[in-house]
Amino acid sequence: MASVVQKYGGSAVTSPEQIRKIAERIIQSYNDRNDVVVVISARAGETNRLIEMAQEMCPRQTGSEYDLLISAGEQVSIGLLALCISSLGYKVRTYLGWQVPIITDSLHTRASIEYIDPAKIRADLNHGAIVLVAGFQGIDRSGTITTLGRGGGDTSAVALAHALGAEVCELYSDVDGIFTADPAICDDARKIEKISYDEMLELASQGARGVQIRAIEYAKKHNVTIHVRSAFTAERGTLVVKEHMPMEGVVVTGIVADKNEAKIAVLGVPDKPGSAAKILTGLADKDISVDMIVQNVGQDGLADITFSISKTDLEKAHQITTQIAKEVNAREVLADRNISKVSIVGLGMKNHAGVAARMFTALAYNNINIQMISTSEIKVSVAIEEKYTELAVRVLHEAFKVDQCSE
Ligand code: ASP
Ligand code: MG
Repeated sequence: MASVVQKYGGSAVTSPEQIRKIAERIIQSYNDRNDVVVVISARAGETNRLIEMAQEMCPRQTGSEYDLLISAGEQVSIGLLALCISSLGYKVRTYLGWQVPIITDSLHTRASIEYIDPAKIRADLNHGAIVLVAGFQGIDRSGTITTLGRGGGDTSAVALAHALGAEVCELYSDVDGIFTADPAICDDARKIEKISYDEMLELASQGARGVQIRAIEYAKKHNVTIHVRSAFTAERGTLVVKEHMPMEGVVVTGIVADKNEAKIAVLGVPDKPGSAAKILTGLADKDISVDMIVQNVGQDGLADITFSISKTDLEKAHQITTQIAKEVNAREVLADRNISKVSIVGLGMKNHAGVAARMFTALAYNNINIQMISTSEIKVSVAIEEKYTELAVRVLHEAFKVDQCSE
């Protein structure tokens, strides 16, 4: 028998009707002679609600008691789904993370999976049961409950697929797959049939929703095939696989925009070793990650350093930077929350020259000014004024003919 791990995200288990539909889908897969292991998330919004409750009770606590609380949403949905499947006459076995066990390190709220013992699940499958596992949670070696970071149900599923040697890890949610661009922005966006781990990682890191970044990393490391698909249609979604070189001539696989970006410029910084280090260290110390960085040397030995951070960090970052700017004798600090980042991603870039030039030309032609740039081997990102975000996505989708590239 083939074995599959199916993970249902919060958006697929919001109502009793949806849970019934999913139960039917799981049973169908079981009747098609599959060994089925299902990972389930908390209902959409439930984990947020638990986090709010925790914060209300005790604002800065994020240790083991916190994880005990915020992992509770999964216990509710696994219970509901199990009741439904068994009421339809099928044998079902349920596991919370610790019962498997899924062993993790002790970094609460963002623990990493160290080991999964698949023996009990294997035995259940051999006895013809459908196995359900609560996502997002594990247990550390001292016996306390841990969670795997927001969206961590994806990692639970990928790790279980690896531990069980499953053929595929199917991630079901309310989206049909990974698209060449956000279909809400770009009419011509189309579903990508196959994408490599590296491209998927870049897209997710640049703001694409769909799969938790840590889950993609785990899948890449252990070569687990992921199938991102809709819980509500039978259509195939997007396969995330190891090496998938795009067709000849295809440069860009996907385009993604992120509006959660802001910019800080430190002007008139004495151009000597240590100034930039001081500013960035101050931010890192407060757990603020800096994305793009530009430094230009002005006149009289003074430089301007501009960098981007997430909008949510802007106030804190502005405060810290203003403080350090004084210490390093910089002239002035400017903050701007009016930017967004637009990125083009594609393995095809490795073999093509002039990709950035083509991107910048298309933007210039539409009068979109580029404020910052960053690149990797398979990505070019630009920071632009926020109001041009959608236009930029459409223009680039057109310029690179992403709609016409097929398998
Ligand atoms: N329930 C958790 C969250 O909302 C994990 C998940 O959905 O995958 O982050
Ligand atoms: Mg979720």
